[in-house]
Amino acid sequence: MKISLNPNAVPAQKREALIAEGGFGKYYTDHMVVCDWSESEGWSEPELIPYGPITLDPATAVFHYGQEIFEGMKAYRQPDGSVALFRPEANARRFANSAKRLALPEMPEELFLETVHALVKQDIAWVPNQVGESLYIRPFMIATEVGLGVRPSNKAKYILIATPAGAYFDPSKPVSVWISTEYVRAAQGGTGEAKCGGNYAASLIAQKAAAAQGCDQVVWIDAKERKWVEEMGGMNLYFVKGTGSDARVVTPKLTGTLLPGITRDSILTAAQDLGYKTEEVMISVDDWRDGIASGEITEIFACGTAAVISPVGQAKSAMGTWVTGDGKPGAITMQIRNHMLAIQHGNTADTHLWMKPVK
Ligand SMILES: *Cc1c(COP(=O)(O)O)cnc(C)c1O
Repeated sequence: MKISLNPNAVPAQKREALIAEGGFGKYYTDHMVVCDWSESEGWSEPELIPYGPITLDPATAVFHYGQEIFEGMKAYRQPDGSVALFRPEANARRFANSAKRLALPEMPEELFLETVHALVKQDIAWVPNQVGESLYIRPFMIATEVGLGVRPSNKAKYILIATPAGAYFDPSKPVSVWISTEYVRAAQGGTGEAKCGGNYAASLIAQKAAAAQGCDQVVWIDAKERKWVEEMGGMNLYFVKGTGSDARVVTPKLTGTLLPGITRDSILTAAQDLGYKTEEVMISVDDWRDGIASGEITEIFACGTAAVISPVGQAKSAMGTWVTGDGKPGAITMQIRNHMLAIQHGNTADTHLWMKPVK
């Protein structure tokens, strides 16, 4: 890796103040990593350089046809002051899968991981210290061939940036959701399984529709039968059925149109470790409504890297409005959330070796 350090790095006192502000995605660390690919030369040696703007020709492919993918992952402060990444290999693998779907070059997983370790190591002072806080890491790749011809780009640029993330969990505020029947996120054969900007571009109008209904987030249902629950915004969903040690922790099955979340996957394991039965099944909007009416569904939560776990309260749809729980996060939701955070912050045994020390 070529390294050119930032001569204008943020002074320590200012950096501490910026981190203390909390929030998400407002400030970026002092450096970034860039790595170029071309069909003829393959991947170049990655470069760690000062964080800053990039210059691109206006005819660059990504601006016109949206050939772009990204990842989201986190580094957490450990009790001994060191820093560890949560399941970075899973992000490396998914990044390669997304690349394949978007006809971008698959970055070798070792190269991806090398860049992540290098950036976090260089900017380690930007990793916050409190439980629930973290350094959010955003790898992405854009098509950089210049020209308006529609074809898979023969050049690509990988960039890695990082931003401190505050603890923005408010347990007194479960998320309200609007179940969208007007718009769909993904269809079989589409890009729903890939983490690409295009999926988000197409989703924003539904997010607006949810807001117009007074809801925080949109819930997606399947494109074909328009009845199966898929995801919430950019997070996967979980339903808790029953209570206490007999409770079952249930999530919509991956059908090819859901984004396979690493948090979703980790919770399947973590919930079993806590003694719960887990299920990956098809869940319809009717099952959701009936489950709440009968009392079988006791808790609902969404999960993803950014918020880890967010309780879901009210669900609103063209078919009516149903409320889970009493407006407070459920006991099992909080138990799983605390367990995940304990693993991520090194406060409980990491039996599945999910945490990778930054070296
Ligand atoms: C990233 C993402 C998720 C959550 O994935 P994690 O790996 O858990 O962060 C869920 N749904 C969508 C649409 C996403 O883009």
